[in-house]
Amino acid sequence: MSRIFSGIQPSGELHVGNYLGAVKNWVSLQAQFESFFCIVNYHAITVPYEPDDLRRRTRDMAIGLLASGLDPKRCALFVQSQVPEHTELAWIFNTLTPLGELERQTQFKEKSGRQEQVMAGLLNYPVLQAADILLYRADLVPVGEDQVQHLELSRVVARNWNARFAPDAPFFPEPQPKLTPTRRIVGLDGQAKMSKSLGNTIGILESPEAIWDKLRPAVTDPARQRKSDPGDPDKCPVIYQLHRAFSPPETVSEVEANCRGAKWGCVDCKNALLAPLLAELAPVRERAASLEANPGQVDELLASGAEKARVVARETLHEVKVRMGLPEQR
Ligand code: SF4
Repeated sequence: MSRIFSGIQPSGELHVGNYLGAVKNWVSLQAQFESFFCIVNYHAITVPYEPDDLRRRTRDMAIGLLASGLDPKRCALFVQSQVPEHTELAWIFNTLTPLGELERQTQFKEKSGRQEQVMAGLLNYPVLQAADILLYRADLVPVGEDQVQHLELSRVVARNWNARFAPDAPFFPEPQPKLTPTRRIVGLDGQAKMSKSLGNTIGILESPEAIWDKLRPAVTDPARQRKSDPGDPDKCPVIYQLHRAFSPPETVSEVEANCRGAKWGCVDCKNALLAPLLAELAPVRERAASLEANPGQVDELLASGAEKARVVARETLHEVKVRMGLPEQR
């Protein structure tokens, strides 16, 4: 069975963009692949943060992932800092990664521009990302189209290490992207990808009232100034994409006909979205409430996920150290 690895930032509660763009896909992939899903809290500390807030966000993310359907019996769901082999392998890869490769990374250029003082961890972030993936010798990494280039450095690292320490038979596979079927989800402002830092999200655990308060003012086709103006769903970046994701096909057809034919106003259209959206999220909210009421259960699930991941992580690191002439503690 091929292996997949994917990581998610501990940004707190999952939003509809994470849910559709990644997590829903992970839930179906866990049945087809040997799956490792990691909450990447070491990545989160490369920018300023508060420890208590990070602890809370990590826990909330775990609850969101479990409530969305990640099943600890079918996958390894764990927190990065509970598997120390990630940072050990990252150090090893740092010694094989040219500085120029890191300085060229677009993520570094973007994020460093926003910081007063740039720490080395931000520059080395992609090396840790490579270690995350290669530690499990993952064949595939589920990503959106906009993240494909981030995988390239992991392939370069695998190639460099193999060339130096496993020239005859590559030890690390060069991980390939497995494209997520859902295109990137636009935020409620209609401008950019849904992202917590931009404040344009719908949280999957928000109450029905809070979700409606966010949907109601969401931007639509700007040509529709009044109900009698015909619209074009393809120019409606937020609501139409959510209908296609959550509504049954007959409702999507109705949206198209009633928007183009000016039979529905945008509030009618948003109302038609609310029911299927809430119906899909209701069981997720129920499971999350039950996990929140049992904090010990979440800790146990994460600890056993980390143990499952460590079985593979230790094996990989052992082989790496043997080949590199690095003695281990017995
Ligand atoms: Fe968007 Fe629906 Fe309004 Fe058409 S009717 S512009 S699809 S919200």
